[in-house]
Parts: sequence; structure tokens; C-alpha cells
Amino acid sequence: MIDLRSDTVTKPTKEMRQAAFDAPVGDDVYGEDPSINELERLAAEKLGKEAALYVPSGTQGNQIAVLTHCQPGQEVILEATSHIFVYEGAAISALAGVQPMTIKGERGAMNPRDVAAAIRGENIHFPETGLICLENTHNKAGGAVVPLENMQAIYETAKERGIPVHLDGARLFNAAVASGVDVKEYAACTDTVQFCLSKGLGAPVGSIIAGSATFITRARKWRKRLGGGMRQAGIIAAPGLVALRTMIDRLADDHANARILAEGLGAIAGLRIENQVDTNILLVNTEDAGLNSEEFLARLKDVGVLAVPFGPNTVRFVTHYDVSREQVREVVGIMEELLR
Ligand SMILES: *Cc1c(COP(=O)(O)O)cnc(C)c1O
Repeated sequence: MIDLRSDTVTKPTKEMRQAAFDAPVGDDVYGEDPSINELERLAAEKLGKEAALYVPSGTQGNQIAVLTHCQPGQEVILEATSHIFVYEGAAISALAGVQPMTIKGERGAMNPRDVAAAIRGENIHFPETGLICLENTHNKAGGAVVPLENMQAIYETAKERGIPVHLDGARLFNAAVASGVDVKEYAACTDTVQFCLSKGLGAPVGSIIAGSATFITRARKWRKRLGGGMRQAGIIAAPGLVALRTMIDRLADDHANARILAEGLGAIAGLRIENQVDTNILLVNTEDAGLNSEEFLARLKDVGVLAVPFGPNTVRFVTHYDVSREQVREVVGIMEELLR
């Protein structure tokens, strides 16, 4: 099987497994796990933030951010197809007691004027705006890189109105590698950032949230409340250190592979590429082949290729460390054959 469902399917490398084996550990709830402490230190340094926190998943990282920034009854501004709104089981409402105010973006980027207009004024009837969430790269927009200037403009408005900004940067390193903009620059236009170690960076488990030292102290308490306080978790965090030290620059290979896949599949009659391929995500429309996404995926699976549905006629392919350039070319050949 060539598995292009997600970059989350990457398996830990030999070096990561060795790092897990060798990891110095301690009780992280007491702050005594040297591997976690080092991972949090390095992550904060990379993002240019005061402090960081290792959490079990990206979803928990985002939810801790919302819980820490907001009070129940507030409103969160976020993009209409953002991961936090679409793919987190309405957790911001179920857990933090806030309601979403969605704005439709362009390739994942909300218009700063729309954001400014969505911020609530003082009125006894209204909820207060408690937080603005951004996403970069934007998953539903096909791994689109949200431009730095867009984030800066939104952050400026947010600062003027005294509203914090959180970045769901699950694939922030993909954005940085694709655009040549340092992750620090993206992080500088947000108060807090979440990124995944377990996606393109290849680590087996975990995400990081970063922000001010005060914020992270409060976030640490929320992580404990949610049952995310882990003990000798250096075992799973040590591969994350390997990821941050060795797996960032190679994301460019995944991006190149996604472009090769886009060119190959785009030339096949019946398939249409829906997105501008900025990073490692490719959205393919199957309508002209007379197949909906589920039918298309079933046929694809029969010939040894996996992807996921992303709409009635849209299929998402994600390139990653465990899919080689050769395999990407093989997939193009397989699909040519399939749709002949
Ligand atoms: C994957 C992803 C998450 C959540 O990460 P999990 O570790 O799967 O919970 C959050 N935001 C975006 C944009 C993602 O792609």
C-alpha cells in the first residue's frame, strides 16, 4: 500500500526509536523529565516564545489554548473551514463554553477587514470576543500557506482591540519551509502557537504549544485538568527532539513530491487539481471521471493506493517522509492505468 491519507501515518525513524530507547526520563508532572524539558526549551527557542508545553495531540493543544485564553460565554473568531471549527468535535463549545464566529477565508486566509468587523463591540446583548484563531498551513484549503502579511494585519487589529491570537500551526514548519519565512516570524504575529510533531516531522506522538511564560503556566494546569499530565513521557517526547533537530528541512522533499503528483494527476483526463500546491497537500476533483470521492477511493484502494475523502467529489493526498519520489511516480502510473 502507498499511504497518502495523511502525514500523520509516518512511522518513527530508527534514530527516533533509538532516542526513545536512550531517553533520560523522570516524572513530567513534577517537571522532572529531562527529555521533555529539553524538548519544551528547544521548541520555545525555535518559535521565539518564552515557554512551551508538550501535549499529547494537536487537538488538545488547540483546546488548551482556547481554554486558557477564554472564559465561558465568549466568542472565538476563526476561519469557516478551520480545523478547530470543523474537525475537533465542537470542543471549543463542549469544553471551553465559547461559541464560534466563523469567517470565510481565501485560501485559508481571513480578510483582516472581515476580522475587524467581526470583533464585538460593547453591548449588553453581545458575547465578548475572547480570541482569534489562525491556521497555517491551512488544511482544508489544501495546505495553503497563509501569507505573513495577512497574519500581521490581523494581529495588529487584535492588539488594538486587546484580543489574543492563537495560531493552529499543526503544519507551521511546512509553511516556513515553503515560504522561506522563519517560524519565529509567523509566531511573532500570534500570542500562542500549536504545532504537531507527529505529522510531517515524523515523530510518533505529540504537539507543542508555545507562548508567554505566564500563559504556559496556566496552560500546564489545563493540561493536567484534561488528564494530559503524563509521567515518564520523555520516552515519547525524545523522538520529537530528533524531529526538531533533523526533520524540518527535508519537508521540502514532500512539497516537491506533492507538485510532481499534481502535475502527473492533473494531466490525466477526468481528474482536476483543485488547489494551488504550496506544500504537501493535494486536492483532486474526481467528478469528470464520473466517480464520487468514495467510489474513486475504493478503486484506488484496490490498486494499492490510499487517500481520504475531502468532499463529495474531492480526494486529499498528502505526501510525507514514508512515501518516496519513486512511489509518487508509481502512483501517477497506477492512476493513468486506472482511468484509461
Ligand atoms: C492534524 C491537525 C490538528 C490536530 O492534530 P491531532 O494531533 O491530530 O489532534 C490541528 N490542526 C490542524 C490544522 C491539523 O491539520
